[in-house]
Parts: sequence; C-alpha cells; structure tokens
Amino acid sequence: MAKKQEKKISVPFTNEPQTRPPIVVIMGHVDHGKTSLLDYIRKTNVTAKEAGGITQSVGAYEIIHSGKKITFIDTPGHEAFSKMRARGTQAADLAILVVAADEGVKPQTKEALGHIQAAKLPFIVAINKVDKPNINLDKVKNELMTTGILLEGYGGNISWQAISAKTGQGVQELLDLILLAAELENLEYDSKTPAKGIIIEALVDNRRGMVVSVIVENGTLRVGENIATATASGKIKSLENFLGERVNNLEPSAPALILGFESLPQIGEEFSTGESALALPEAVLPVAEKASVNKAEENAEKIKIILKADNAGSLEALADILKTIPSTKPVEILDQSVGRINEGDFKSAVNSDALIIGFRVKLDQSAESLQKLSPVKMITSDIIYELVKKFEDHLNSFGTINVVGELEILAIFASSSKNKQIVGGRISQGKIKNQQKFEVWRNEQSIAKGRIVNLQEKKKDVSEAETGKEVGLLVEADDIIKTGDKLKFYELSKPAGS
Ligand code: GDP
Repeated sequence: MAKKQEKKISVPFTNEPQTRPPIVVIMGHVDHGKTSLLDYIRKTNVTAKEAGGITQSVGAYEIIHSGKKITFIDTPGHEAFSKMRARGTQAADLAILVVAADEGVKPQTKEALGHIQAAKLPFIVAINKVDKPNINLDKVKNELMTTGILLEGYGGNISWQAISAKTGQGVQELLDLILLAAELENLEYDSKTPAKGIIIEALVDNRRGMVVSVIVENGTLRVGENIATATASGKIKSLENFLGERVNNLEPSAPALILGFESLPQIGEEFSTGESALALPEAVLPVAEKASVNKAEENAEKIKIILKADNAGSLEALADILKTIPSTKPVEILDQSVGRINEGDFKSAVNSDALIIGFRVKLDQSAESLQKLSPVKMITSDIIYELVKKFEDHLNSFGTINVVGELEILAIFASSSKNKQIVGGRISQGKIKNQQKFEVWRNEQSIAKGRIVNLQEKKKDVSEAETGKEVGLLVEADDIIKTGDKLKFYELSKPAGS
C-alpha cells in the first residue's frame, strides 16, 4: 500500500483517492447455495431494523463486516454478469465461486469459472453445505484442483473457505477473506469527479416509471444531475440507497436506485453523470423506439408489443431476442415490465392495438376476466423458443422476409450526418440494388434501418451489384454505421392465400 502512495503524483486541487468497498458477485452451479448464502449474509449483517426497510430489491446490497463495507450483487447473478461481459463492462471486483460439498464440481461451476477467468476477476472458493452428513471435503478439493483451481494450502494461491449457508458456519471467515482480497486490489475512487458506474437492473414500474438500479464505481452520484448510458438518458429526479431511503448523494461502491431515466437503459451498460453524460453521442432512445427512416409511412403498420416476464433478466433477454427476429413491419416495444399480466397491460393493449407477450408469467384475475370478455392478442409461454416460434408465426401472417443480400462494411468515408453517410464494403451474400432498404447489424443485433441513396462500383453509378463485389454507397440510416457492421437486405413475400 505504502509503495503505491509514493508513486502517485499529486494533482493540484484534487483529493487523494479514497478506498472504496469491494463489489462482490456470487456464482456457481444451480442449487449449490448462491441465494442461500446471499440471504444469510444479508440477514446477519444488515441490522434487523434496516432490513425491515428493504421494500424493493435494488439488485445489490451493502453490509458492514469488521467495520468495513462490502457490496454484494444479488440478482440476477449469472445473467447480469454475462450481460456485463457481453458489453465489456465489469461491475464486480471479486467473485465467490460456490461449490456444494455434496455435489462437487458441476458443468455450471466450470462455466462460472470460465466467466470469472475471462473477466480476470480475483475469486474465492466457498465450499458450501458442509453441515450435511457424509461430506467428503478432500474429494471436492481434488475435483477443484483437476478443474484447474489451485487451492491455497495445496500448492496454489486461490483462497477457499468451507461454509454452510444454512447454519452460518464459516461465513464470517469468508467475509474476512473478501476484505483481505479487496485490500490487495487497491480499489480507489475520487469523490470529486462525476459519477460512473454500471446498470444492474432496469424496469418499468406502473407507478414510478423507469426504475433503474446501479452500482456507483467512481465519483459521487447526486440528485439533479444528468445521467446517460449509450442507449438511454435522463435526469436524476430521485435517488434511493439499497434500503429504499431517499438520499441526496451516494459514493462508491454503493448500490442505488434512480428515478428519472426517460427510457430504459440496458443491464450491464456503463453510465456517467454530469457533463460527460451530455457528451455521450446520441445517448437517447433504444433502437426499437428510434425514429425510423420513413416514420409516417411505417407508423400506421407497426407491430406494437407489450412485454411481460418473471424477472428483469429474462425481460431484457426477451426484448433482445425479439429485436433480432426479422419482420416485414417494424416492431415497437411499447412497454415492458416484470410481473403478471394485469389490467393495466390489458387496457394499454386494447388502446394501442398491441400484442402482449408474456414469458413465464400468467394473467392476474382481473386480466383473466377481461380476456374472457373481449380478448386481446396474447402470446405466452414458459419456454423461450416456443414463445419466439409463436411470435415468428404471428409475424409471418403479415408475409415473410428473406435475406436477399448482405454487405460487410469495410470503410467509412463520411458519417457526419446520418442521412449522408458514405461507406464502402464487400457484398458477402446475394445481390444488392440501388434504393434498396436495409437493416444495420452489429454484434448479431439489428441496430438501425436505412436505405441506399446511391450505389457505385469502381466509382461508377450502378443499379445493382453481386456477391464478391466491392462497392461504395451513399446511404441514409437512423444510426451511424461503423466498420465491421453488416447491412442486410430483405425482400418480402406475401403470406399464402392473401
Ligand atoms: P442457488 O440455486 O445456487 O441459488 O441455490 P439455493 O440457495 O437456492 O439453494 C439450493 C438448495 O440448497 C435449497 O434447498 C437450500 O435450502 C439448500 N442449501 C443451500 N445452502 C445450504 C447449506 O449450507 N446446507 C444445506 N444443508 N442446504 C443448503
């Protein structure tokens, strides 16, 4: 620690960095006790009075152990973690890999380890359920070693602790190990800079609007400031700590609940506040809500949907999947929220002629009676591929679309205006035509729509070009195209019998 301090060049008018508490994520195979451990720690380390105040899960909570704070990300563990990795962000400083002593290393233990290693996260192994009879700890340790987890005391340096999330045995020692590991990580922050952090939960609450949970990683989060991610923005109208108490500001590594986003940010995205929030490029609406190229023409025939799911993780996953399904008509997600399909959802479906899609949710009583009286279009299933299939069938009833051409963007020549972008690329599939409409795909997701305004091959105007050819294009699109993007060109075929 002392060495680190020496190296620092002090900058005028700034504070020395302060140490922030570690942010911990718990991972491991299903049923090995992740939830039980989180519950046990919350119960025993957040005072009863405070715990009683927790009305809504923020997706993380904070404890004090030996006078020091620790933040635990508590939901939706694995999913949130994968999302963050997919976006190249990282909320956690440290992982606990839970392995049940009676079952040992299982497929998801290895998967979790893969995530942890890819993210280069330091981790501690918690061998859980040691209260159970006939536990063979040596067998579990051997399995861990053969999986490449070299435990401390066995020739390696990975800390481990035998615990029981049921009786609490070893849990305080595990917390000691967390604090010890955090010290080695030198977690620092500067309270003077605008806040930065990660979105960990986001949902639409019927009463409160966009409710967004974050973890602050640097700076100070304050009421009244602008806040933005790459896809959403707003102004912090109200700030709550993880106990649901209103506060004016929060510092790292505090979990926080923010009201004031104007659209729903995505889980795992990074946010910033203050002036840097304003500087984010086009930090506005999600793609589905973005103005489309021919808005007036398309508005009339949009497919509007209301999404419901059992939790925020599956809700976002579902929204992501639906966005990737090709459709002859633009699909707009009017509203998405967690919980049963209720009267409110039913009424907005009627008012806006929307389709309700429910994943692992049922109708509540009032919605059920309404559905009997005057049914709305509704697709529900507990199985994601079945839901997707039903939605595709619904879309296909308007005609199907076939990809007829695909172009890989190799160079950008001008992109200062969305409607006058000059790009170059190679046709990797099919044929493309001048004036043809396309979708822009990035990282396997459709992110924007557009149209070719002019097509050139070898600097000469052409009306079409085929696979293998390199072409230059003047295009208009509702987002800025980047090198590596794919443009996909579609053709419609009407449904049989229409
Ligand atoms: P998760 O899927 O990893 O979140 O696992 P859970 O926390 O839901 O635990 C799965 C099951 O194991 C539940 O029935 C728990 O009651 C049980 N369990 C969890 N931890 C322990 C433990 O330390 N000892 C015993 N005996 N059972 C446990």
